[in-house]
Order: sequence, then structure tokens, then C-alpha cells
Amino acid sequence: MIWKIGGSICPTCGGPGRESPRHPGALCQKCQAIVVDSAGNPAILANESFSGGLKVTVGGKTIKSMEAEGLPLYTNGIECRAKSYRFGGVVVQPLQVWQALADRRGCP
Ligand SMILES: [Zn+2]
Repeated sequence: MIWKIGGSICPTCGGPGRESPRHPGALCQKCQAIVVDSAGNPAILANESFSGGLKVTVGGKTIKSMEAEGLPLYTNGIECRAKSYRFGGVVVQPLQVWQALADRRGCP
């Protein structure tokens, strides 16, 4: 898996990335559209409301908020986590990238 500061590469397919300095490991739209849960069920990612929050619909169930943000998701076999973006929208990054960013900022 490759990701770059500045987000020029999508870490799960190696194609063009989202160019987001804040989320350098953000999956491209194509990869974000094909995320699955650990059982291989397609996961639909959305905001809980207009003010944000994450909602994941998978296997006929809807999971929200913190639980949704902790749900293991996979794209091309790479484990990812989704989070709601602060102005609405959803960002998906490989777990490894979230962890690397958290370490760099010195917070858990
Ligand atoms: Zn991609």
C-alpha cells in the first residue's frame, strides 16, 4: 500500500488520489464506492444528518456515529475506516493511514 503526503495517490488502487493534505490517504471515489465489511457485504456510507455524523448501511443494518467510525471496512483487501468529514461528506482512509496521522499529531 502506498500513500503520499498531499494525497496524490489513492492508496488502495494506485490511481489518482483526492489531493487532500488533511486526508492524504483518502480513497478515490471508485474505491470508496466498493467498500465492504469483514463479511464481504457492500457498505453504503452516508452522513447521519445535514450536520454530519457517519452512517453505514451494511447487510440490512444501519450503524451510526462512533460505532460506524470503528467498523472495519475493506477495499481491495486493505482494512479501512470511514469518518464523517467536518463539513459533511464521508472520508475513507486505510487504518494504517489514520494511525500514522494520529501519531504525527501526537493524539490518540
Ligand atoms: Zn482508488
